[in-house]
Amino acid sequence: MVDEQLHARGIRDAAVLEAMKTIPREAFLPVDLAHAAYRDTPLPIGDGQTISQPYVVALMASALCLRPGDRALEIGTGSGYAAAILSLVAGQVYTVERNPRLATEAEERFHALGLSNIALRCGDGSLGWPDAAPFEGIMVSASGPRVPPELREQLTVGGRLVIPVAHRRQQRLSCVRRLADDEFRERDLGPVRFVPLVGAGGWPVTEAVRV
Ligand code: SAH
Repeated sequence: MVDEQLHARGIRDAAVLEAMKTIPREAFLPVDLAHAAYRDTPLPIGDGQTISQPYVVALMASALCLRPGDRALEIGTGSGYAAAILSLVAGQVYTVERNPRLATEAEERFHALGLSNIALRCGDGSLGWPDAAPFEGIMVSASGPRVPPELREQLTVGGRLVIPVAHRRQQRLSCVRRLADDEFRERDLGPVRFVPLVGAGGWPVTEAVRV
C-alpha cells in the first residue's frame, strides 16, 4: 500500500509514510471487510459512513506538515484510522465524532492499540474544539459547504487546515494556511469525495440527507 498507492503518487512526508506502515488498517474495519483493508478505496463502516481511501488520508495528513510535539485536531473520527495516523505524526491529537457508536468503537481501538495521545469527544465538531485550541493542524474528514471561520481561528500562526468543500457539483480538498493573525492563504488540492459534515459549521441535518 505504502509503495504502490502512496509513494508512487507523490506522498513524500516520511513521518506519514512510516505511520501508514505501522498502523494496521484492518483493525479499523468491520471483521467481514478486514480482507479488503489494503485496497485503494474507501470502505463502509456502518451507518452510511466510510473509512477514507488510504491515499486521501496520506494526502491530508501530509498537507498539514505536522512535526513531533504538534497538536492536531481531526473532525469526523469515523473508524479512528486517520486519528491513529495523526497520533504517530503529531504530539497530541484531539478528535470529534458525532455518531456515538462510531465514537465508542474508535475509542476502543485506540485503547487496544495503545494510542494514548488521542482525546476523543462525541458531539458536533464542525466548529472545532475551542477549549483545546490552538492547533498546528486541523483535518476535517467530512465535506462542508464552506470553510468554517471558527476553524481557521483555532489555528496557530503557521498552522494548516485541510477540509473538503462543496464546489459546484464537486467537492474540492482545500488547504488553508494561517500566515498571520488575520491573514490566510487557501490552496486547492484537487477533487475528492467525502460524506457530509453535519452540524452548525456544516450542512443542516435535513440537507445532509440529500447531499
Ligand atoms: N476519518 C475517518 C473517516 C470518517 S467519515 C476514518 O478514518 O475512518 C466522516 C465522519 O464524520 C463520519 O463518521 C461522520 O459521522 C462524522 N461527522 C460528520 N459530521 C460531523 C460533525 N459535525 N462532527 C463530528 N463528526 C462528524
